Amino acid sequence: MTARILDGKRVAQEIRDEIKENAKPLVAKGVVPGLAAVLVGEDAASKLYVGSKTKASVEAGLFSEAIVLPLETTREELGVKLDELNARDDIDAILLQLPLPGHLDAEEFLDRISPEKDVDGFHPVSVGKLVQKRSGPRPCTPAGIMELLRREKIDVAGKRAVVVGRSDIVGKPMAMLLMHANATVTVCHSRTRDLPAVAQEGEILVAAMGRPAILRKEHIRPGAVVIDVGMNRANTLEQVKDFFGNDEKRLAAFEKRGSTLVGDVHPKDAMEVASAFTPVPGGVGPLTIAMLLSNTLELAKVRRG
Ligand code: NDP
Repeated sequence: MTARILDGKRVAQEIRDEIKENAKPLVAKGVVPGLAAVLVGEDAASKLYVGSKTKASVEAGLFSEAIVLPLETTREELGVKLDELNARDDIDAILLQLPLPGHLDAEEFLDRISPEKDVDGFHPVSVGKLVQKRSGPRPCTPAGIMELLRREKIDVAGKRAVVVGRSDIVGKPMAMLLMHANATVTVCHSRTRDLPAVAQEGEILVAAMGRPAILRKEHIRPGAVVIDVGMNRANTLEQVKDFFGNDEKRLAAFEKRGSTLVGDVHPKDAMEVASAFTPVPGGVGPLTIAMLLSNTLELAKVRRG
């Protein structure tokens, strides 16, 4: 069997085009949905993420502001900045880029964002709404995966779904959304006994561990739909060849940058055993950004629409 590639990039573009259309009536009324992205420090990867998020918002016809604060920003200063954004009427959605520098506690500041503007759905109020299946912003990565499954016509109801990873950002909300969509869900983590046997039960298998290509053939049920959230680097030629065979594009990327991206699932194994598979990159990643824009629009509609 060769797995069908689930093209997250294409689906994300579809979603982004729809957001642009759906934002028009609001914009016509003078309400431009606004996203503020707050970054503390100059971490290169975080800067890149914030840059692509703000660029995508503008392309979708939304207003976007990136706020870069110095590394030495104090608790008080960050608190004041978030309060300021909470109070601004032109800002509908606030994103706090993680990780924060060591002296700032992520939980304290995620809690400080008004639930009305909680674009990532990480505030305890939003988490409560998710658990109770009430409307509210959903964490973007799992929400994007649900949207991908829906648009690719992959039925979830009644299926056995296995989620590997239990973070607040991906694993837990993913499990909750799958359960709300009537899947029978198992959540695995680093203390799960006999992971291959448990993972094999999944007709839908979601990998969100942050461990390069760790899920192999023995973890994948033949014909399963495999969603790979992981974003890791393959840093040696040996790894690249093991993960991708003689894929010329990958070898060229490795040659150029000294590394290439790989998910948590062994891509060659997934292609052989699964019925459908999200590639890394180009699978889940683009959907996360699309859902961030979708959440921004929804928050604007609720608060100002
Ligand atoms: P965390 O590190 O917060 O969580 C990882 C989870 O995986 C933990 O629950 C951990 O278990 C579990 N885990 C780790 N190793 C194993 C193992 N060997 N066997 C079973 N379970 C294991 O990561 P995140 O959820 O934040 O992210 C996961 C991955 O997804 C990362 O690669 C990240 O870069 C990527 N990501 C991608 C996004 C995208 O848009 N594409 C968005 C967000 C994340 P335990 O709880 O027991 O420690």
